[in-house]
Amino acid sequence: VKERGGSAISALTSDDHERLNRTSLIERRLIHALDRRNLRLLYQPQVNLSTGKVEGVEALVRWEDSEIGIVTPDELIPIAEESGMIHEIGRFVLETVCAQQKEWKSRGIDLNVSINSSIREFRDKDMAKVFLEQLALNEGVANSLTIEITEKFALEAEAEQSIIKQMKQLHQAGISFSLDDFGTGYASFRYMLLLPISSLKIDRDIIQSITKQEKMQKMIKGMIQFGKSLDFQVTAEGVETNEQLELLRAMDCDIIQGYISGRPMEAHDLEKWLN
Ligand code: C2E
Ligand code: CA
Ligand code: CA
Ligand code: CA
Repeated sequence: VKERGGSAISALTSDDHERLNRTSLIERRLIHALDRRNLRLLYQPQVNLSTGKVEGVEALVRWEDSEIGIVTPDELIPIAEESGMIHEIGRFVLETVCAQQKEWKSRGIDLNVSINSSIREFRDKDMAKVFLEQLALNEGVANSLTIEITEKFALEAEAEQSIIKQMKQLHQAGISFSLDDFGTGYASFRYMLLLPISSLKIDRDIIQSITKQEKMQKMIKGMIQFGKSLDFQVTAEGVETNEQLELLRAMDCDIIQGYISGRPMEAHDLEKWLN
C-alpha cells in the first residue's frame, strides 16, 4: 500500500512516469510536425445504401513521426486537446481539405468532406471567424463541408451559448453538422433541437454488435427510425461484413461508412477507387 505523504511526485508509479514522458515527447514532436506539415489526411468513403453512390468522405488525420513512429488519432487527439495544439491540428485539417477540394472541383470530382472537431476548438471565441476567413478564400467549399461533433461535445455545447452561436454562424455559411458516435451514452436529446445538426452517425461499437444479439438489432433499428423521423440523415459507421450491411439495408439506413466499402485512403487512391 502506497503512503500518501510527501510530494505528489513521489506518489507517481513508474508507469505514470513513462506515460508523462511519452506525452511530453509527443507534444514536442507534434510542434515540429505541424511546423513542417508532416501530418496527413486520409479519406474514407461514405456510401449511400439505396443508390450505391459515394456521397462523401470523412477526413481522418494520420501522423508518423521519424522518432516515435505512428501515433494513432486515439492517442494524438486527447494529447493535442490537453496541450491546446488541437487548434493547430484543426487549422491544418481545414487548410488541407480546402486545397484538396479545390483540386477535386477543378477535375469535376464532387464530394462532401466531413472533418472532426473537438469542443476545445469551439471554445476559442475566434474559431468560427478563422474558419469563415479560410472558407472565403475557397469558394464553394463551405457547402460541401460537414463538421462531425461527438455526442459528448453536443451535450456540453448545450450549456455554452458562445459555442451554439459559433455553430450557427458556420451553419449559416453553408456548413453542415453531424452527430458522431451516436448512442454511446447520453440520454439527452434536447441538444438535437438546440444545435444545427442534420445527420447522425451510429457508433462503430454499436454497429458491430448488430449480429450478436436480437435486442441489439432492435435497438439499432429503433435508432435509425428515430433519426429518420426527425429528418436526420443516418450513417452507420464501422460496417465490416456483408451480414451487417444487409441488416442495415433492411433497416433503411441511409449511409454506410466502414471497411466493407472502403478503408481510409490517400486522396489519389480514393480517386482511383472512385473509378
Ligand atoms: P471517429 O470520428 O469515430 O472515426 C472513425 C474511426 O473508425 C476512424 O479511426 C476510422 O479509421 C475507423 N474505422 C472506419 N471504418 C472502420 C471499420 O469498418 N472497422 C473498424 N474497426 N474501424 C473503422 P481513426 O482514423 O483511428 O480515428 C479515431 C478517432 O480519432 C476518430 O473517431 C476521431 O474521433 C478522431 N480523429 C481522427 N482524425 C481527427 C481530426 O482530424 N481531428 C479531430 N479532432 N479528431 C480526429
Ligand atoms: Ca468522425
Ligand atoms: Ca464515430
Ligand atoms: Ca469514435
